[in-house]
Order: sequence, then C-alpha cells, then structure tokens
Amino acid sequence: MKHQSGRSHPRPSRQANAAYPQAVRDLIEQLSKLPGIGSRSAERLAFHVLKSDMDSAMALSDAIALVKQTVGHCRVCFNLCDGEVCSICDDPQRDHGRVLVVEQPKDLIALEQTGMYRGLYHVLMGRLSPLDGVGPSDLTVGALVDRVRGSGSGSDSGSPVVVEVVLGLNPTVEGDGTALYLASELGKLGVTVSRLARGLPSGGSLEYANKAVLADAILGRQSMD
Ligand SMILES: [Zn+2]
Repeated sequence: MKHQSGRSHPRPSRQANAAYPQAVRDLIEQLSKLPGIGSRSAERLAFHVLKSDMDSAMALSDAIALVKQTVGHCRVCFNLCDGEVCSICDDPQRDHGRVLVVEQPKDLIALEQTGMYRGLYHVLMGRLSPLDGVGPSDLTVGALVDRVRGSGSGSDSGSPVVVEVVLGLNPTVEGDGTALYLASELGKLGVTVSRLARGLPSGGSLEYANKAVLADAILGRQSMD
C-alpha cells in the first residue's frame, strides 16, 4: 500500500495531543503555561497527575486554590502574606527604622535566610525598565516614598521614623538604574540611603547568591550620599 503523504497531517505531537480527551488536553495546556515547562514536560506532568491517586491529585489542586484564595501582599511592605500585615512588619523585635528595598519576595527570602538583617523590607514588585515601559507607577515606589515620609513622631501613623533605606536591587543594568532613581527620590526626604556592598556577581540575582556573600553585602553596605 502506498504510504500516505504527511502533508495533510498536522505535526506528530499535535496529532498525539488531539487524541487525548479534552480534559487531558486542557490540563496539558495549563501546565505548559508554567515557566520552564515545555509541551513535553507538560505532557509528562499531566500523565503523572492521571496516574496519581485521587487524594494526591486533589491535594495539588487544593493547594493551588488555597494559595490564590488566601495569600496576598502585606499592605506595608508588599511581602507575601496571608493576612493584612506580614509577620516581619508585625514583629516588634525588628528594627522598624530600617527598610531594605528588594525587587521580589524571593529576594527577601534569600536575605532573611542569612539571619544578618533585623530591619524591615519593601518589595518593589519589579524594577524600572524604560525599554519595557515599566515606570515608577508600575512598581510600589509611591508606597515606599509615602512610607518614609509618613514615618516618625510628626506623622499620623505614629510608626518609628525610618532612618535608613538600604537598596538591595539585583546587580543588573536595570537594577542599578532603579537604585539611582530611588536614591535620588528618597534623598529629597532626608533619609540615609545605602546600598548592599558590591561583591554580588554583576548581572546575577540576590535569589541565587550564597548566604555568605549576601551576609557580607548587608554588613558592608555603603552610603549612596
Ligand atoms: Zn510586611
């Protein structure tokens, strides 16, 4: 029998996909939207879910639902939390006069793991990126300025005065640009602005730096005045 030309057929992987029940195709499609998950990995994960018992599969599904229903951002520092205010902002033992600015919650976690910093944080939720159209209003810059300006005994908040803002942005071109912008904005408020010591690999990320390097960066922080 003459072999049929492949021309009228879709690519093999798509063809295989089309043979799955709709629910399986939907699961593969959702999984393939996850970062770092290609279509083959998504297919493998979907089969893992199909093979697992009902309890395990539901535990995964419930954990996803719960994290979306209960976890939000601290109204003070924008760290992840499951209440109004995160456990760090809520801790009276911490130094409320110091605020360390990071790009993402995972940078905060990396710095917390050093155990070397006892102040508070402020999560920017990104960094300035003019080429991508990310400006100050797309980040939590306004909230940071309000937080510094609104602190101290002269304010309504009654919170301790912020004496130092430590800039802990990632050592990238955009991170550096964001740090310079913040130093200029915060400098107008009369607060001391410092930045984590150099020593973090350029172009790298706080998230992946080892604890000793991060601890040195915190201890050796330098004034930007
Ligand atoms: Zn907080």
